[in-house]
This record gives sequence, structure tokens and C-alpha cells, in this order.
Amino acid sequence: MEEQAIEMPCPMCQEEGQLGMMAHVDEIPYFGEHTQVTVLCHACGWRQTDFIPAEGRKPGGWDFEIASEKDLNARVIRSSSCTVSIPELDLEVNPGGNATGYVTNMEGLLNRFIKIVEMVMKDLEGDEEENLKTLQHMLHRLQKAGLEGDGLQIELLDPHGLSQILHPDAVDRDLTEDELRRLPVGPDPAVFSK
Ligand SMILES: [Zn+2]
Repeated sequence: MEEQAIEMPCPMCQEEGQLGMMAHVDEIPYFGEHTQVTVLCHACGWRQTDFIPAEGRKPGGWDFEIASEKDLNARVIRSSSCTVSIPELDLEVNPGGNATGYVTNMEGLLNRFIKIVEMVMKDLEGDEEENLKTLQHMLHRLQKAGLEGDGLQIELLDPHGLSQILHPDAVDRDLTEDELRRLPVGPDPAVFSK
């Protein structure tokens, strides 16, 4: 894959002349043609991948209920600007500094949440019993949904409109004013700035 230099400092380490971009067109099963764009920094190793649909951007919000075991196979494109939310558990994963796009399914998405909750639990001090209880409840709920698919609601909120859930029951919608105001979009993605 050919790499192209980008004339701007790295958004992470601010080093000049170290950013490169690679792009190639990919056929993602069921999603159609996408351009996969990766921006990387040779100084600090930061990289960000995104999948840009050939058909243009979709509405920013997707609501989906994991209602059965079969729904765990629903395919998901999560872009680097996307916040994934589980309203029932008050859980939200925002695009952080190292946010990168990925293609997965609902089961993979739940597993990512499970890993995050487990990580937070490990870091808890002994005297935080209340928090531990809350986290254990979250973990239990996520694991149950991951095994049986028992009605857990998942939301993708993407101000750049590059994320998608591929399932007939997934509902796409515009983001509300409130969501647009509060949602972070991650580090200024080199790809989308001029
Ligand atoms: Zn860097």
C-alpha cells in the first residue's frame, strides 16, 4: 500500500513531518464498498483507521436492541468519531485519543465493554464496595446479553455519520441537538480536516 505524506503535525505528539496516510478501497461483506483510510505517525506510533462508505455518510445515530442470540451477529462499523452507548447501564465509550475505527459484530462490541468494566474493577481500591457492586451488576448484564441477547439496547452516536449497524431492525436517525452538543468526536482526525 502506498503511503502519502501529510503536511501537518501529529495530533498526539505534535511532531512535524511524521504523518503518513494510506488508503485503499475494500469490499466489506454486507456493507458494500468502503475506503479504508489509515493515518499514522512515525514518531510516536499513533494510528487511526476509518472506513468511509462509497455511498456517502449515513445519519449519525443508530439504535439497536439485542433481542435474541441471533442478533449478536449483527455487523457493526464503528468509526473513530463514534460514541457507543448502553443507556440501561449508563455506560458510554467515547472516542478517546487513540480511538480508531473497526468492523465487528454485536458480540464483539459487548466483549469490548466487558473488557473495559473488568479493567476498571481491577483498579478499584478495597474501600469502594458500592462501586464494585455497580460494576459487578454491569458485568453480569453484559455477559448475559452477550450469551443470550436479552433485550439490551445499544446506541451508536457518530457526529461524522460514518458508523453503521447492519441489521433489518437497526434504526438509523439523526442526532438530537443535545447529542450533537455533548458528543466528543475524538482527536481532530487528520483525514477530515483540510
Ligand atoms: Zn506522533
